[in-house]
Amino acid sequence: MSDITNLLLKWHKEIDRDLPWKNTVNPYFIWVSEIILQQTRVEQGTPYYHRFIHKFPTIKLLAEASQEDVYKVWEGLGYYSRARNMHATAKYIHYELNGNFPKTYAELIQLKGIGPYTAAAISSFAFNEDKAVLDGNVFRVLSRLYGEEAFINVPKNRKLFQALVDQLLPKGKSAGFNQAIMDFGSIQCKPKKPSCSSCKLNGHCSAFIEGRVEQLPKKKKAKAKKNRYFYFLDLRPNGKVFPVIKREGDDIWHGLYSFPYLDAYTKLELSSDLWSDALAFPIDDAPKLRWSTKHILSHQILHCFFYEVEIDSVMLQKNHLSASRISYKWIKNHHDVPWPVVISKYLNIFS
Ligand code: SF4
Repeated sequence: MSDITNLLLKWHKEIDRDLPWKNTVNPYFIWVSEIILQQTRVEQGTPYYHRFIHKFPTIKLLAEASQEDVYKVWEGLGYYSRARNMHATAKYIHYELNGNFPKTYAELIQLKGIGPYTAAAISSFAFNEDKAVLDGNVFRVLSRLYGEEAFINVPKNRKLFQALVDQLLPKGKSAGFNQAIMDFGSIQCKPKKPSCSSCKLNGHCSAFIEGRVEQLPKKKKAKAKKNRYFYFLDLRPNGKVFPVIKREGDDIWHGLYSFPYLDAYTKLELSSDLWSDALAFPIDDAPKLRWSTKHILSHQILHCFFYEVEIDSVMLQKNHLSASRISYKWIKNHHDVPWPVVISKYLNIFS
């Protein structure tokens, strides 16, 4: 075992980081926790993990659930494609593999929504296969330890970093090592202001020895994000049904629900005519702006504006009958359907 591995494992013994999914070898629980934590901090993700496992305690129950039920539990986490893929894979394991969770990295990597990181995490934590994980924390630790300048966000460099972590992996102890190096990245070797002076590895760390900690890891600059403007119309009359739209297609928020809306890649000059035309029902009074916010996604910056207008619910439905261009669904309670994060935020304030 290398000195670095030894020191890492020692460090890990000394910290006591008890997380709900750490004391399990149940591959299903590990899978759920890893997918949730890919997109969120531990403090934020933990309640979602509990909620998800409570609602779907077995892969069978997840497989049998409707997509909307899965989205509802996921609501607020974003990255709904991950929930969708998880649902599809649960169905595959339950219906095609008789509920037998694949055990090896080679099998796991074939499944929808399971990439190299998740396959390594499940195969090592649940089945102790000798596979080293490579997540954002591990990339950063390796880049600093070895003074590696290769961009960590360029896919072709993954091989290089995988080789670095593979040489540290102690045979037969992958679960402990993987947890140790990920925890080390999130607690000690943090992205900003890592605790170098108290670090057990500082005598082995190229970045520290050469005074380059602040410059590593290197990341290739992402493309500029596109601006996009959403104008939502909140038409919730007291206690009556109101129209929502189920989003389909390749665009963001697939399978989630939205208020009737207008959207564009430039700011719109709103008018009653524009609203009426886009939503396929007449709007006589100009809607009033109630709330606006900016919501940042991986490739887009969403500028979201929420409007309201008084419309008689019965008239609205009657008008709608003749306007089949947009297929509205009528709901009574906003808890009935899953929403994108930004609309959930609005509903939390104005429900
Ligand atoms: S010395 Fe600093 S940069 Fe190097 S591994 Fe330790 S915490 Fe990370």
